[in-house]
Amino acid sequence: MTQRPAWKLSAMLKTFSMLPLLLAAAVLSAWAVYSVPPPVVDRMLEADLRKQADIWQRAVLLHLASSEDAFVLGDLDEHDEEYLSLVPATSDVYRLTLLEADGTIFWSTRPENIGERNTQPYFQSVVSQGLVYYKHAEKPATVVDGLRIAANADGSIPNREVAEVYSPVMHDGIFIGAIQFYSDITDVRNTFITRVRISLALISLVTVAAMTVVSVVVFKANRRSLRQVEERSAKDQEIMANQLQLAREVKLLGELNEWLQSCRSLEELFGMVSEFMSHLLPDSEGSIYVFSNSRDVLDGCSSWNGGSHKDHIQPGECWGLRRGRTYEFGASEVEFTCAHAEPHDGRPYFCFPILAHGETVGLMHLRARPSRAGDFSGCKQLAQMCAEQISMAIANVRMRDQLHDQSVRDPLTGLFNRRHMTDSLRKFIASSQERGQALSVVSIDVDHFKKFNDNHGHDAGDMVLRAVGTALEQACDGDEVACRPGGEEFALLLPNVSPEDAVTKAELLRQAIEDVVVRYGEKALPRISISLGVAHYPAHGTMPQDLLRASDEALYEAKAKGRNQVCVAEGASPLPRNPAALPEAGSAQEQKKGAA
Ligand code: GH3
Ligand code: MG
Ligand code: MG
Repeated sequence: MTQRPAWKLSAMLKTFSMLPLLLAAAVLSAWAVYSVPPPVVDRMLEADLRKQADIWQRAVLLHLASSEDAFVLGDLDEHDEEYLSLVPATSDVYRLTLLEADGTIFWSTRPENIGERNTQPYFQSVVSQGLVYYKHAEKPATVVDGLRIAANADGSIPNREVAEVYSPVMHDGIFIGAIQFYSDITDVRNTFITRVRISLALISLVTVAAMTVVSVVVFKANRRSLRQVEERSAKDQEIMANQLQLAREVKLLGELNEWLQSCRSLEELFGMVSEFMSHLLPDSEGSIYVFSNSRDVLDGCSSWNGGSHKDHIQPGECWGLRRGRTYEFGASEVEFTCAHAEPHDGRPYFCFPILAHGETVGLMHLRARPSRAGDFSGCKQLAQMCAEQISMAIANVRMRDQLHDQSVRDPLTGLFNRRHMTDSLRKFIASSQERGQALSVVSIDVDHFKKFNDNHGHDAGDMVLRAVGTALEQACDGDEVACRPGGEEFALLLPNVSPEDAVTKAELLRQAIEDVVVRYGEKALPRISISLGVAHYPAHGTMPQDLLRASDEALYEAKAKGRNQVCVAEGASPLPRNPAALPEAGSAQEQKKGAA
């Protein structure tokens, strides 16, 4: 079902609101047509009859031999009476009565009325004062003289409209009597009323029609401006809603930026990104992939709003990464699906390469949520801004990691430096103190390294140091830490390792170094050996410097005893836990002693 525009609805309402007005006009017209004509016609007829009575009176008085004699003395001759008797036949008057000054009827076309006296107050107050008195009433048809009466259908006698006019007769300014004219105005009255009604009805019809036409014209004229106003208002509302949405997005983006700045690790960063993205882009599900250190695959790091990510994807699986710019699926006539987006159900999606300092560090994949694929491309700009912020944040965290690494690692071997060694040892001691766990420190020094350097050069020496570092790193398990505090000296921190196992580990390391072969150019360098001193917590100290001093002293002892051997600090058992596991240890030491 299509939705009616708001302006149309409003215009319709306004049209309906005019209906009562037109209806009221129609009702008023009907009332006027019914009620107005009778009183108006009566007024007109009264005026007419008053004038008519004047003419009739003049005619009567002119025909009387002596009006004075007639009215004062009641003296009418034969001629007078004959004339008077003919009046109903020659005029609209159906009865004529002559009254004396006191109201007594002295002659009438209805002889039985002669002698009656009119005692009505109006006779004295109006007629006697020389004024015409007019009276109109509805009376039974029987009162009208000479009328042929046709009874109604129900047998009743119909009524007639009867007008009576009393016309005073004056002589020398003195009231001497009056002439009363009876006139049946029924027909003329009805005719006039009908005519007035027809006229009024026509006028009303024309008025209502004119009102309707004017209303329609005005409505049509207003409709366009109303529609424009409503369209403008709808547009304003849309702009307002967009601005509010924009303000919200800008605020969220600002907050996202602020939070991302304070991220300490990528895990923390991806957690925040998931949370913010589900608020910023609620209509899309997403995921983030970041290049592994080897840069041959991208690792799936995070997803939100019902999205999912694979553990790893190849850079070649994404058209966005291959083309080096945002890939929008669902906007072109011909397009190809990224392999990493499979299985794909045809929903539109974006792939934003995440760039930092000119380098592609990952991929943000956004896909329209199943129920909201409608206006997916509308979120492209915002998503792009998010991708940029995430790129910067990833670059920041990585740079921070690199700086931190640089501050705690030795550049030659990649092992931890002295500062980190001391810090770690302090933490391990605190942990051992708290949990009662074992802890050992092994100090290591390359034997006769000065001579090696002198014989084979500094670069060859560096290669040997790198090889020793690699061997140390390989010897470490779990939380164990390999360090290069300086020069050709190394150290191992072995938390949660028993003294026996620590000595065993030291011995195995010594053997491993003996077997290390370093190639320098064409030739293989002579093998080297190391001396090791082991100290245990808490037997040889409870502070980092005490433990390190004890392991160093044990190392000096190993040097003193002939090098290429393991010595344990004084006061603790120097024996490996399983000497059988170390078949060559004794012989090697003895060999070296001999050599020394
Ligand atoms: P010992 O068996 O008593 O330890 O004898 P040594 O010659 O190993 O001991 P010494 O302390 O006399 O010499 C250490 C040498 O290590 C001196 C220095 O030339 C060398 N050295 C220190 N740091 C480096 C480095 O970073 N690279 C190279 N190639 N040599 C280094
Ligand atoms: Mg040394
Ligand atoms: Mg040395």
